[in-house]
Amino acid sequence: MRSEELKANLASVEERVAAACKRAGRDRSEVTLIAVSKTKPVEDLQVIYDAGIREFGENKVQELTGKIPEMADDINWHLIGHLQRNKVKYIVDKVKLIHSVDSYRLAEEINIQAKKKGVVCDILIEVNAANEATKFGVRLEEAKQLCQEISHLDAVHIVGLMTIAPNVVVSEENRAIFHKIKDLSVDIQKENIDNVDMRIISMGMTNDFEVAIEEGATHVRVGTAIFGQRNYNI
Ligand SMILES: *Cc1c(COP(=O)(O)O)cnc(C)c1O
Repeated sequence: MRSEELKANLASVEERVAAACKRAGRDRSEVTLIAVSKTKPVEDLQVIYDAGIREFGENKVQELTGKIPEMADDINWHLIGHLQRNKVKYIVDKVKLIHSVDSYRLAEEINIQAKKKGVVCDILIEVNAANEATKFGVRLEEAKQLCQEISHLDAVHIVGLMTIAPNVVVSEENRAIFHKIKDLSVDIQKENIDNVDMRIISMGMTNDFEVAIEEGATHVRVGTAIFGQRNYNI
């Protein structure tokens, strides 16, 4: 049965998260597992919710706003995909964290919409650590400056960094990338920029979350290993 399969997948991911924490000498409570449920029906999300998960990640605004009213209201929703400025208004007061901010203009729009709703919006700066042409995110060298600029916006609060590592065959190949992001996070924290803190590092997906945890991830975003392959043709 589908629900048994999902529960078994989740249990196995949980085991691997715990083992990676142990190898890295980290407490399991230092790592948050975000279940990435994009393209999956709410029935699947419900199984994972019933198994105890309260953090869900979606990459499209429309899909996210469609699912929110269908699910329990104690869920923390994470917007993990590229965000267009004209869609910010639909989600700014509905998500726990926006992982994908890579420009001042986007942060500025989040600030405007957050003020309108009377909230402060937590965001991460997305870093394109491998400088891949196909990916969003600022370059490593630009991240600190962007944090400085955004720090002046008072309804936006930078709480860390996010990266999507290259799609590699062997996860070990991404270790250096994850390490660079951790270093960058420490480096920015040292600057003591007002309104900026680096408590979150969102990195690691199905293919590489264990290495990411070993290198300091505080949030891993896992889709396929929990929900199975995605079918984009339906
Ligand atoms: C889809 C997605 C994930 C999850 O990817 P899997 O390989 O299925 O675990 C994580 N992060 C982002 C930004 C994504 O879009």
